[in-house]
Amino acid sequence: MFDNLTERFSSVIKTLRGEARLTESNIKDALREVRMALIEADVALPAIKTFIERVKERAVGHEVMDKLSPGQALVGVVHEELVAIMGGDKAEINLNVTPPAVILMAGLQGAGKTTSSGKLAKWLMEQKKKKVLLVSCDVYRPAAIEQLALLAEQTGADFFSAKTGQKPAEISTAALDFARKHHHDVIIVDTAGRLGIDEAMMQEISQLEQLLKPAETFFVVDAMQGQDAVNTAKAFSEALPLTGVILTKLDGDARGGAALSVRHVTGKPIKFAGVAEKLTGLEPFHPDRMASRILGMGDVLGLIEEAQRSSDQKDAERLMKKMKSGKGFDLNDFQQQFQQMKKMGGMSAMLDKLPRQLSQAAQNMNVDETVINRTDGIINSMTPQERAKPEIIKASRKRRIAAGSGVTVQEVNRLLTQFEQARKMMKMMNKGGMAKMMRAVKG
Ligand code: GDP
Repeated sequence: MFDNLTERFSSVIKTLRGEARLTESNIKDALREVRMALIEADVALPAIKTFIERVKERAVGHEVMDKLSPGQALVGVVHEELVAIMGGDKAEINLNVTPPAVILMAGLQGAGKTTSSGKLAKWLMEQKKKKVLLVSCDVYRPAAIEQLALLAEQTGADFFSAKTGQKPAEISTAALDFARKHHHDVIIVDTAGRLGIDEAMMQEISQLEQLLKPAETFFVVDAMQGQDAVNTAKAFSEALPLTGVILTKLDGDARGGAALSVRHVTGKPIKFAGVAEKLTGLEPFHPDRMASRILGMGDVLGLIEEAQRSSDQKDAERLMKKMKSGKGFDLNDFQQQFQQMKKMGGMSAMLDKLPRQLSQAAQNMNVDETVINRTDGIINSMTPQERAKPEIIKASRKRRIAAGSGVTVQEVNRLLTQFEQARKMMKMMNKGGMAKMMRAVKG
């Protein structure tokens, strides 16, 4: 994904090596390279313009922190602006309506609409525990209807079959009735695509939009189409109140232009990204992770974060002191450790910050992010006294904590064991230093 851009960015940083400060002139050279890289990546010109202006404004006169070289400092600014141009914070899917929430899928033929409908159904069922109904309004292509029916079968979602001769408007209102009767939480409506934008298609989808009042109207675009994809998205967003974009086939996109332009040009957030052909290949879109991936410089970004995390630093130092002395380390501190992990964006975000090869290896180890949240929840269900003196947590307290945080008693036990291990480790560190601890870890 985006390999060309990643390579170009790292060569820009190399050219700044050896410079003592960021100055107007060395920034100018670096930015010229960045601009070239973005043009090659097929990023839309207005997006490039805004991006370069913002980076320039922020980089000139930017105080370079002690630990960072000018190149690294520039990476920091570029990273933040990449995140900003892709929309800043992650945009959540909106399902906050009286069920069933309707999701309308629009897009050109071949963009990946039908496949994404199936993937989204799977994601909603697995990640959000929703009951999902799939319905196809592509009455012009029986093959597309069959494709969606097959996807429903593979994912376990329900499928609404239309009667022959029904029009899209009739099909979707009948499906909505059906969903109400059968208590579906979400109904995903796949629509007919065309090879290009045409009036009839626009009218049809606008009519569906007015009729169904969707919670989400997604425009599905193929990232490999670069600026063409962005232009079609723009035309659609002018005709239809889109709520978000699904960017497909990122796995095949070596350039990255669509990902970097679509938000800026349409004003609509990318909510999901297609990253593989298979049914699990749809992910919520995280601008910050994507920016890290594009830069491919996890090590440098980590350094920058470290240099910037000064207020957290104090907390961390206090914690380190406690850890070193082994005294007074309680569940509050334990929770704080986890919260710091969460602040950094959880395990998967941390993994993305690693350089590519390393992150691949770590991903294979299958680290579970939900553990962090669950730990937090369990400790939140404890009283201050329990957190300060975990030894008092016996059977009945465990039952209460488990019920309060919606987990099993076994999970509470597991957490307490983990805490004990951490505390032991700290004591050991205190007594015998690092060498003894390493022996213990090796077992
Ligand atoms: P539609 O005409 O918009 O409904 O497009 P389809 O859903 O039929 O998808 C067109 C082709 O793109 C199919 O072969 C899909 O398997 C493929 N496809 C869709 N999304 C992705 C993706 O994220 N990655 C890859 N590699 N292929 C995808």
